[in-house]
Amino acid sequence: MTVKPKITFVNPPTPQGRKFTRNIGCASESKGGYLLLCIDFVILSGVLRNHFDISFVDCVGEQLSQQDAINQINQIKPDIIICALIDAIFENDFQFLSHLATSYQKAKIYVLGDAFIEEDNVKLVSPLVKGIITTPFLLNPEDFLQHSLQNTSEAITGLRKQDEYQNFTKSPQQAQFPTPQYELFLNDFYQWPFARHPSYLTVSTTWGCPFSCSYCTASSFPFHYREASKVVEDFSYIKSLGVKEVYITDLSFGYPKENTVDFLKQLIEKKLNMSWSTYFHPSRFEPEFMDLMKQAGCHTITIGVETKDLSILKKYGRHLNDDTIKNLISYCKKIGIEVCGDFIIGFKEQNQNEIEESVKYAKELKLDYASFNLLSPLPGSTIRKEAQQRGLIKQVNQGFDSLGQGGILVLGDISEDNLRQLRNRAVKSFYLRPHFLFKKVMKIKSFDHFMLQFKEFISLFTKVFQSKK
Ligand code: SF4
Repeated sequence: MTVKPKITFVNPPTPQGRKFTRNIGCASESKGGYLLLCIDFVILSGVLRNHFDISFVDCVGEQLSQQDAINQINQIKPDIIICALIDAIFENDFQFLSHLATSYQKAKIYVLGDAFIEEDNVKLVSPLVKGIITTPFLLNPEDFLQHSLQNTSEAITGLRKQDEYQNFTKSPQQAQFPTPQYELFLNDFYQWPFARHPSYLTVSTTWGCPFSCSYCTASSFPFHYREASKVVEDFSYIKSLGVKEVYITDLSFGYPKENTVDFLKQLIEKKLNMSWSTYFHPSRFEPEFMDLMKQAGCHTITIGVETKDLSILKKYGRHLNDDTIKNLISYCKKIGIEVCGDFIIGFKEQNQNEIEESVKYAKELKLDYASFNLLSPLPGSTIRKEAQQRGLIKQVNQGFDSLGQGGILVLGDISEDNLRQLRNRAVKSFYLRPHFLFKKVMKIKSFDHFMLQFKEFISLFTKVFQSKK
């Protein structure tokens, strides 16, 4: 039997063990105690599984130190390492990569992550790595192996090219992702706050987003979708592993419509009896479509509301209508789908009053959950460009993130301290309402569900109270 080359995915340690999910499209920090799977590693596990012996060193999940990680890698002795680096903590991640490159020299190193949308980050890592993975499902495993063996710096399909983020189309393109090697990701430390069961796995029906909100990294990417039956195969495989909960990690579930309707119908026909949640764009709202989602097992959606004053969002290419948001939420209530609203605090167009009105709006909408995020200069976004032009951030990000742990970007008239207080007040004001808490308790489905929600609640408030004054 031929011995397969060894490949190791590495999710580096984070400062103070903070729970970041490193992704190419949407890297984020946990607002509570949950930890999401890195979808790019999940996709790569399917793409590479037949050609490589894959292992995964997840320093965030396992809370490993830098030295623990190097020790594990030394034991595995991989031929190739794929390491994730993200922009929000790039200094930390780059330091880890440099240490890895000198401590373990037997492997060819590839990297991935949202950090590499920015040219300055690319220049920094280039001397240390063989290539940068930008589109995991486009990698051909044989070409990838050859690339790792040859002394070439020429990019192959799936690796970053010079004009990677300049010439692309948002028209939906079909992509083939094989079913991932999900066994690699079966760990208790991955938790999703809206899950109804303790362990969950993640599935992707699309990659990228059909929309182009200019404050978001996903605006810089093309949009791909998978054939409906392939996604259903992932669900069946997950079920065969004894996992009942799925997070569909699409950035805007429901596109293209015909393919998603086909997927939902197939999932209903299969009677897999799995529960799932996803991100959803309010403009996709149609009652019949929501009915299909509910029948197929969807119990929670997250929607980007962002602010009460929707005219602010128009300037960033996001077009939402107040009635659509309200109709969507009220229909979801009627059929039993819970809704989480995402909000952003810190647009330069917002004043303190607008932010407070947005928090009031979150309560008036009767959302089941709300996530309040500080505006970040995300890679590839217009916010990033403006912050750089105004000299508010260095070329390499200095640690701004949506929780404000590393720093808060001030683009308007509200000070850093005030933005932090407004964010923390928003969380307390939304969640600490006796009537709201009573309703939440009444919606608990099981002991596991109670424990998941209780732990998240404690972690959410621990972060609020620990946040710098
Ligand atoms: S809908 Fe807009 S904010 Fe949401 S992922 Fe797509 S581009 Fe980003």
